[in-house]
Amino acid sequence: MSDIKTYEYVWLDGYKPEPSIRSKIKATDLRGTDKGELNDDMPPRWSFDGSSTQQAEGGSSDCLLVPVQMYENPTAPDHLVMCQVLAADGSIHPSNTRDAANAVVSDEWWFGFEQEYFFTNPDGSPLGWEDGEPRPQGDYYCGVGADNVAGREISEVHLQACIEAGINLTGTNAEVALGQWEYQCFGKGIKAADDLWMSRYLLYKIAEEYGVGVNIHPKPKTGDWNGSGMHANFSNEEMRTNGSEKLFHSICDKLGEVHDEGIASYGSDNDMRLTGLHETQKITEFSYGISDRGASIRIPVYTVEHDWNGYLEDRRPASNADPYKILSHIVGTLTK
Ligand code: MG
Repeated sequence: MSDIKTYEYVWLDGYKPEPSIRSKIKATDLRGTDKGELNDDMPPRWSFDGSSTQQAEGGSSDCLLVPVQMYENPTAPDHLVMCQVLAADGSIHPSNTRDAANAVVSDEWWFGFEQEYFFTNPDGSPLGWEDGEPRPQGDYYCGVGADNVAGREISEVHLQACIEAGINLTGTNAEVALGQWEYQCFGKGIKAADDLWMSRYLLYKIAEEYGVGVNIHPKPKTGDWNGSGMHANFSNEEMRTNGSEKLFHSICDKLGEVHDEGIASYGSDNDMRLTGLHETQKITEFSYGISDRGASIRIPVYTVEHDWNGYLEDRRPASNADPYKILSHIVGTLTK
């Protein structure tokens, strides 16, 4: 038996406004590794060519990959390894948004992200749109039948893969537009954001096997078609166990005071999606309300019915938002 194990290192590149995901595989028996480098049984640090990922100049191109979260790999290699990026001198790389989130968030903060996206054909059109625009929206949300859904098999394989990897997906459904899907990803503390990035990675990779792309732009199709968001449900210990109407209103008010900062952290091109239509509030306005899907922040009926113990749903983040930035903004604002 070989002692060789394989580790699929996954990291975020330096592209703007949002990073893309990169990966490469290391095969090693870990011999020759400085054990001092290994923390919590993580595989060793590794390096990559930052000049190919908008993270370094060609003359001095090495960047460092520092493993931060490990997952069982439902496909070939033994493990998936989420990494953060350091510059060659060991300092936090400017593209590294995880470090700031990790500095403010603790495991008492729980997040449930509702990741929406479109599957796409090789020409970029949504899956199911091969013959032009399909019938208007209406039948597709949670729909069934070949003329009402496209991409179900990939969505279901992805759900199982995430569960096997130890990522807490709590559900998936066909969305309002044909070829559009959602999954819900729950986690605590910084792992919530690591898991969301890894779940996206698995989605892209699994869809690859079907020759299908994934589009997480917030408005891939203009006109009377829903955009894609990433509603961020969140709570802390006090909200869950010692809540009150006053507490929830004060949290909403605090986030409202820095609405512009929030929007800046919640993904690019979000103005195309937050129009006041299609269950959104306008990007220039901030509001909150009980059970209000046209508000910036929805106070769920669950929270009110549990005597103001529960969670809030920030409906502003776009589908392409960086979850590290969402954590930084929400927790940073509420712990100031
Ligand atoms: Mg949805």
